[in-house]
Amino acid sequence: MKIGYKPFQLELKYPFTIARFSRNFTPVMLLDISLDGFTGLGEASMVPYMGENIQSATDFLSNVDLSWMKFPFDFDELTAYLDGIAPGNPNIKAAVDIALHDLSGKMLNIPCYRMFGSDPQKMPLTSITIGIDTPEIVIRKVKEAENCHIIKVKLGRDNDQDLIKNIRSVTNKPLFVDANQGWTDRNQGLDMAHWLAEQGTLLIEQPMPKEDMDSNAWITEHSPIPIFADEAVQRLPDIEHLKGAYHGINIKLMKSAGMAEGFKMIQLARKQGMKVLIGCMSETSCATLAAAALAPLCDWADLDGPFLTANNPFKDPEFNDGKWVLNDDSGLGLSGYKL
Ligand code: MG
Repeated sequence: MKIGYKPFQLELKYPFTIARFSRNFTPVMLLDISLDGFTGLGEASMVPYMGENIQSATDFLSNVDLSWMKFPFDFDELTAYLDGIAPGNPNIKAAVDIALHDLSGKMLNIPCYRMFGSDPQKMPLTSITIGIDTPEIVIRKVKEAENCHIIKVKLGRDNDQDLIKNIRSVTNKPLFVDANQGWTDRNQGLDMAHWLAEQGTLLIEQPMPKEDMDSNAWITEHSPIPIFADEAVQRLPDIEHLKGAYHGINIKLMKSAGMAEGFKMIQLARKQGMKVLIGCMSETSCATLAAAALAPLCDWADLDGPFLTANNPFKDPEFNDGKWVLNDDSGLGLSGYKL
């Protein structure tokens, strides 16, 4: 099995600002894995706060030798093998996992979503993030997002209510709110949750720092709308102790180290009676379609990578009436780019 890879600078349409920092592009590693004349594509989107970069990805890949893998691939074995090379590194592990799922689908001649029993007819609505910006640009972004039926807003600053009022002056669409751990007082957090519910907010992500489990759990207990863990959950073992502390979890393939573990996380969350949102980093069509393949198993999607980036090297996936459309092509259904 042959692995090829290429760094790619994925540019953002607007500088991306969340509670603690701002940036203009995301370093991405694009990957292809070939076997028997078939090629699968994968992607690692390496947002700086997760700690990976082109160098760490290159170092990790120099230790990956997939010659032991036989088709059909055993993804549990793959996960154990990648975790055995080094701990952490979920972004580049996800790239390998995604490429092997795409390859697998192509070799089996089925779309990836079918490997998970995922029904494209059950695709949930996807939100689009409106980053923190000047009031004029926020209004422009909301207008540009007319194809999406849910607006996601990043809060966690002093002027949270002004930002929401600003958005409400241009649209009545339902909102997802992501506080990105930016709230520090549980009483104020709960007041915000009540106020946001009145403003048409469907859910709140990570109201308080992940380490403050008690306060997040307290807000969850009293909140009129669902509270989701994002920063507090990365991989499968994180979910078990979150039962009761949050109503749901935000799964991202760049945190879960790929589709195989992402799927297990959805199953475990369901078993624990938790809701599931599937989210993304700034990603090309490759990781977006990988997440979209699992999205019908989730309650909501926040897969806006292709909307927020300026130089997606692949063709944008089809988007209709607020939802991604999964096609019948084998593998991820990607087109338009070769490494
Ligand atoms: Mg989040």
